[in-house]
Amino acid sequence: MIEDTIFGKIIRREIPADIVYEDDVCLAFRDVTPQAPTHVLVIPKKPIPKLADATVEDKALLGHLLLTVKTVAEQLGISTDGYRVVINTGTNGGQTVFHLHLHLLGGRSLHWPPG
Ligand code: 5GP
Repeated sequence: MIEDTIFGKIIRREIPADIVYEDDVCLAFRDVTPQAPTHVLVIPKKPIPKLADATVEDKALLGHLLLTVKTVAEQLGISTDGYRVVINTGTNGGQTVFHLHLHLLGGRSLHWPPG
């Protein structure tokens, strides 16, 4: 059984979040500890714990998440200047919430490489 996470509670509206986009497949909301002026998390409603757990069956879902990041970036006005999309995966990847999510970061110039 896949363990529930704080993001499952956000999907079910059991805890509040600043939601900026929603459709049948995914939800996007502002990160509670933003690392940039715009920091949004895009998550699938399907509770895949991490990218490493995705399968070929999730191909369309993964594409949908990326295109949603693009849509949300446009909606929030950070598309022209550019932005970064991050997926932390597993312990060494720095993942802390085990419900797959894409970080959308923008609104300032971001450094490379990340820490
Ligand atoms: P990870 O480290 O797993 O890649 O990212 C998890 C992200 O979720 C972190 O950036 C963290 O600030 C964010 N986060 C954790 N709990 C909550 C919450 O309850 N609400 C919101 N909006 N973001 C959260």
